Amino acid sequence: MEICGYEIDIDLVRTKELYKKKKTISEECGCKTCKKLNMEIIKRFKELHEEFEQYNIELNKSEDICELESNNSKRVYSGIYHIVGKLNNNKDCWKLVGKGNSWIIDEESMIPFKFGKYGFTNKISLKKDYEPNDIVQMELILILDNTKKNFA
Ligand SMILES: [Zn+2]
Repeated sequence: MEICGYEIDIDLVRTKELYKKKKTISEECGCKTCKKLNMEIIKRFKELHEEFEQYNIELNKSEDICELESNNSKRVYSGIYHIVGKLNNNKDCWKLVGKGNSWIIDEESMIPFKFGKYGFTNKISLKKDYEPNDIVQMELILILDNTKKNFA
């Protein structure tokens, strides 16, 4: 499929199988922040899922997710996800900066959606032993409303 310039072949069946093996954020790390984030993602799963069901990604099973920013109105997270498939063209959400030896996320190349943005890259971090070699990494920036009292 082609999504905002990313030409990506996704093996939906194997991606679904892969996510059955993965642990949730709160199973991976039992800290307060991870438990809260896992719960919040599940609570909002339907809305979030509308975007990611096309990839068979389960958003509460991230390779790694961390908080970038938090204030009274919003919390911003950065998360890494893997899918089985292939990125076919040169569009990649990581770009080289400086003297060509460091990489950063190229936010302008990312796909905007209601809760943030995401993009794909061939650079795989935190690959697990059980994961196949033909995987693509998705970088997600998630912006969640922090004004709801039950998540204070
Ligand atoms: Zn944690």
